[in-house]
Amino acid sequence: MRHQLFIGGQFVDALSGETQPTLNPHDNTPIADVAMAGRADVDLAVAAAQRAFPKWSRMAAADRGRILLKLADLIEANAEELARLESLDTGHPIKDSRALDVPRTAACYRYFGGMADKFQGETIPVEAGFLNYTLREPVGVVGQVVPWNFPLMFTSWKMAPALAAGNTIVMKPAEITPLTSLKIAELMAEAGIPEGVVNIVPGLGSVAGQYIAEHPGIAKVAFTGSTATGKRIVQASAGNLKKVQLELGGKGPNIVFEDANLTAAVNGSAWAIFHNQGQACIAGSRLMLHSAIADEFLERFTTLARSIRLGNPLDAATEMGPLTSALHRDRVLSYAQVAAEQGGEIVAGGRAPVAAELARGCYVEPTIVKARSWRDRVAQEEVFGPFVTVLTFKDDAEALEIANGTDYGLGSGLWTSNLQRAHRFARDLHAGMVWINSYKRVNPGSPFGGVGQSGYGREMGFDAMREYTQVKSVWVNVDAQIPPWYPRPAA
Ligand code: NAP
Ligand code: MG
Repeated sequence: MRHQLFIGGQFVDALSGETQPTLNPHDNTPIADVAMAGRADVDLAVAAAQRAFPKWSRMAAADRGRILLKLADLIEANAEELARLESLDTGHPIKDSRALDVPRTAACYRYFGGMADKFQGETIPVEAGFLNYTLREPVGVVGQVVPWNFPLMFTSWKMAPALAAGNTIVMKPAEITPLTSLKIAELMAEAGIPEGVVNIVPGLGSVAGQYIAEHPGIAKVAFTGSTATGKRIVQASAGNLKKVQLELGGKGPNIVFEDANLTAAVNGSAWAIFHNQGQACIAGSRLMLHSAIADEFLERFTTLARSIRLGNPLDAATEMGPLTSALHRDRVLSYAQVAAEQGGEIVAGGRAPVAAELARGCYVEPTIVKARSWRDRVAQEEVFGPFVTVLTFKDDAEALEIANGTDYGLGSGLWTSNLQRAHRFARDLHAGMVWINSYKRVNPGSPFGGVGQSGYGREMGFDAMREYTQVKSVWVNVDAQIPPWYPRPAA
């Protein structure tokens, strides 16, 4: 199988002819060869997006919306193919792809399809005789760079609002997971998205991604990925002062108080860290337990973690698949050593599973580590795998100090039956999102993003439409009597 770039409505080879295989992380066998875009291909994609912009941006918003609604229907009609492709390329268990990735992707296009003609400017009461109103204009050509952990969903979070607002797009999926975004390109053409409105250019981050961030023809760049790469993007964007939107890493605190419903908290905390093999920026990767319930909770949580069924992602019974690449698996496993060096105790996992049928894949056992201190590396650095760091606290003040004791601020959550405490923590947590008696909920209507080293800007909801538009203020002299500032006798 061979996949090409999608530029100007056509599937085309890279100008260099370069390709790279994408692998199945279950056994590291190649699935397909994929064209790798270089700078010249990005130039072509930007030119196509610029040509498509005038017509797309001036089309009736309701017509853009209708196309996105049709795309949502097509995603549902092709749900099984998309789910299998996502599982094959990323290692997501097919149960997850079917129940979460695909329906959430369709829901995102549908939400922003409906949003297209409901997002509007304002009229502003200014001095007498003037009408002042705002236009919400699309930014222009937007560059979007997404990571490999949720390729299908994350492309929808970026493309749906951008398209609803009338922008045109150059999108770079991660080089190791390009397949579902190329399938979406096909469905977009079928839904009636005109050629050049969306261009998909798989390629290396250091080449195609970097050039998208630099490109003078791109007005905005939206990025999801690591904090280090986010900072490089900010620097590269300075040339033409691009608008930048960053959704970066996290080290989410998941706080269980002594009055929590432990059954719900055990299951919800396992979901918080082990769903998607822990490869989620909003993972609840710091499990913080009140000392009164810590032992009981940890015992039940460990029993549950050990029972999670690892296996081939295409098997419907599988609950945890492989990590998405061998390189990343090795990085995650290296944190067992990091933990040990600082006196951490590995309660479960910390290694690849021994089962022969998993030996060639990128698997890691669900890993639970008790850290000595919340300042240790395993309690501070994003591991981005099925790796949870357990910390204990004795009261609310200590819980808040630990929870806010990282440079990140993305997802966070707490389990308690005390209403005042719940809302007090919601106020005081340094985070973009707070979940109370649940974890890791997302919805296309609810703003998603972070503070601090987790980035800036918000995806989803009306906030996303604000991010993908700029405001123009229009002043009209209706009947204002303006005395001349430079009075002169009339000629
Ligand atoms: P990354 O470098 O941030 O990659 C994310 C995306 O950015 C990929 O499409 C990547 O391309 C691209 N990219 C890389 N260098 C770039 C550059 N100089 N300019 C523009 N784009 C560039 O992340 P990673 O190396 O895959 O993963 C490392 C760590 O990042 C993970 O262990 C995790 O901690 C974190 N991470 C966070 C998220 C999140 O959801 N917030 C997602 C992924 C990773 P290619 O990969 O195709 O080269
Ligand atoms: Mg792959």
